[in-house]
Amino acid sequence: MEKEQIKFTELTFQLIVESSPNAIVLVNKEGKIAYINSQTEKLFGYIRSELIGQPVELLIPERFSNHHKAFRDLFFQIPSVRVMGAGRELFALRKNKSEFPIEIGLNPVITVDGTLVLASIIDITERKKAEERFRLVVESAPNAMILVNSEGTITLVNDQTEKLFGYERKELIGNKLELLIPNRFRGHHPNHRNTFFLKPQTRSMGAGRDLFALKKDGNEVQVEIGLNPIETTEGQMVLASIIDITERKIQEQIVKRHAELEAKNKELEQFAYIASHDLQEPLRTISNYMKVFEEDYNTVLDDNALRYLQSVNNATTRMSKLVKALLDYSRLGRNKQLVLVDGKKIINDVIADLETIIKTTGTTIEVGEVTKIDAYEVEVRQLFQNLITNAIKFRKKDVPCVIKINLERIKDKWKFSVSDNGIGIAPEHFERIFFIFQRLNPIDLYEGYGIGLANCKKIVELHEGEIWVESVLGEGSTFNFTI
Ligand code: ADP
Repeated sequence: MEKEQIKFTELTFQLIVESSPNAIVLVNKEGKIAYINSQTEKLFGYIRSELIGQPVELLIPERFSNHHKAFRDLFFQIPSVRVMGAGRELFALRKNKSEFPIEIGLNPVITVDGTLVLASIIDITERKKAEERFRLVVESAPNAMILVNSEGTITLVNDQTEKLFGYERKELIGNKLELLIPNRFRGHHPNHRNTFFLKPQTRSMGAGRDLFALKKDGNEVQVEIGLNPIETTEGQMVLASIIDITERKIQEQIVKRHAELEAKNKELEQFAYIASHDLQEPLRTISNYMKVFEEDYNTVLDDNALRYLQSVNNATTRMSKLVKALLDYSRLGRNKQLVLVDGKKIINDVIADLETIIKTTGTTIEVGEVTKIDAYEVEVRQLFQNLITNAIKFRKKDVPCVIKINLERIKDKWKFSVSDNGIGIAPEHFERIFFIFQRLNPIDLYEGYGIGLANCKKIVELHEGEIWVESVLGEGSTFNFTI
């Protein structure tokens, strides 16, 4: 009866071992193989008779087999169910001497012949390949990617993560994710993480909130984070994909500000247009009645009264010119058309139009290399006309006026410069001369309405460029603008 019982137990053991999907090797205290299942034959390429009675080191690559005896002895001293080589990568050796990665579970088996160890071996080649593929995908991702376990420990990062945060990989792996979260958000994060792991699903993080990440240098970046749950052999993890959106946010701000400014400009233009249009009518009435007054009362008025009338007349004429200038300014660019224009031709045309004043003032104009540019033709013509006229108008009375016009490529823009050897401008006026009706000199010395440079600025801004002046008082000025 007892013998039968043992037989039955052996049979049960064999059945269980044979039906296991893992390779199973039973080893005795001396390190000799006592039993193997057919999975072992398949996995290692031996037949059973070639292994039974052989040292188990036959199945271990040489570089590990030396240490193996010591490990084995240790196991038999305190036999317990455990995983072998925790934390180390384990490899097995086939009959044909090829190696493969494995995972081994160890179980002590007490028999009448003493204690044996039952090693259950899994070939993890496929898993390793999948892990490697996953690692490669993560590594080549254009975003920073961080794999975090349910305790919030970083287990994997890619190259982009190192670049974004300024940490080296070894400084991050094994560390808590909170390292990368600004202090003011740190406290809430474990809660958010726990909520995620309760119901892991692909989603973006912090919907509606602005998210910030902390770099090693203490600076923050604004980020967008996608979360993906990943099942791994080490448990449920989350793969966070992080994009630095600082630049995008700045661009959004610029676009927003630009739109606001444009709306304000439109409003101002509309106001200037309506105001100047409506002002013209009463002005016309005043100057008509002044004429009637002059004609009908000429004989009645004394010299003083006539002089006053003349002053009123001059003022209304100037005012009507100012109003007209304002109207033109507000209309500027209304019918603009972007065309490829020959810069050289425009400048030559303007010079031809100004021939008389150039000749009478003895002005020389030197024009450098100028190419074709995309621009609003009518407006650019006006721009050059204003700058050249100003350079002549504000010349030094005792020095012949010399104007130099040059073009230079700077990054993706063209930079024009119009320089003169005139009276120059003091630095404190460099900004304000581009505003409407701003003049620096007395009207009886240099006539004008203070609108030329405001027009120039508006034209340059139509081309999304900038205009600025460099000047030394008494030596000359250079007006630069980009297109
Ligand atoms: P305006 O020429 O009608 O006075 P602008 O708007 O063209 O008005 O110029 C504004 C002011 O800038 C001028 O009154 C003048 O004081 C100064 N300015 C413009 N161009 C020059 C220049 N080339 N040299 C010196 N001062 C200049």
